[in-house]
Amino acid sequence: MRLKLQVHLPHYITNWFPLAVWRMPDDSKTVFLTFDDGPIPEVTPWVLDLLRKNNIKATFFAVGENVFRYSEIFEQIIDDGHAVGNHTYHHLQGLKSNNRTYYKDIVHANKLIGSNLFRPPHGWLKRTQYRYLSGKYKIIMWDVISCDYNQNITKEEVLQNVLDYARNGSIITFHDSLKAADHLYWVLPRAIEALKAEGYVFSKIEFPKVRRLIVSPTLQRIRRIRNNIRQFSLWA
Ligand SMILES: [Zn+2]
Repeated sequence: MRLKLQVHLPHYITNWFPLAVWRMPDDSKTVFLTFDDGPIPEVTPWVLDLLRKNNIKATFFAVGENVFRYSEIFEQIIDDGHAVGNHTYHHLQGLKSNNRTYYKDIVHANKLIGSNLFRPPHGWLKRTQYRYLSGKYKIIMWDVISCDYNQNITKEEVLQNVLDYARNGSIITFHDSLKAADHLYWVLPRAIEALKAEGYVFSKIEFPKVRRLIVSPTLQRIRRIRNNIRQFSLWA
């Protein structure tokens, strides 16, 4: 099989971000569908309908400004039992953003989204952003990108991208966006059908909350007092 970097990245690249999740540690025949950039009324309710009919739980990496604008669709995602992740408020590109602005945008989005999962728009981060955000969120990347947003390839090629590279634990990326809609309407039902026929089941992405790496000032103060008491009792 020809290696398509835009669809699937080899180990020597994914190893640059070892704390990020590229594939779920699940050795059963399970794949994890993810949808980026929504929610929007033109596409997301259609995706939700299709997932409901197929009894599939998936993960939606929502853009904060869309959640603000279409909060009822976001509520529907939650009510249907799917997982949600933070995809920044303004769909900012990490490599082009100053860190302070980038982090503020993510915090702003998380007031609406409330998730411990984060996926960087355009799939890339600066090393400093990666290190900082890994302490706060589980960074979810992908094992397979369908390239549904790419107008220069056919819908058949989009479907083939998914079917060629899907394997146990694959995190598969689609987009509930206008740009991807034409491809998605055709590809998603067929991808689901074909993966089911291959014996795959579908699951959403869940991780326990990321442990805070930085000790809070209050905790530092408590530790200092405890140490002082210990010192004092030794001395006394
Ligand atoms: Zn995106």
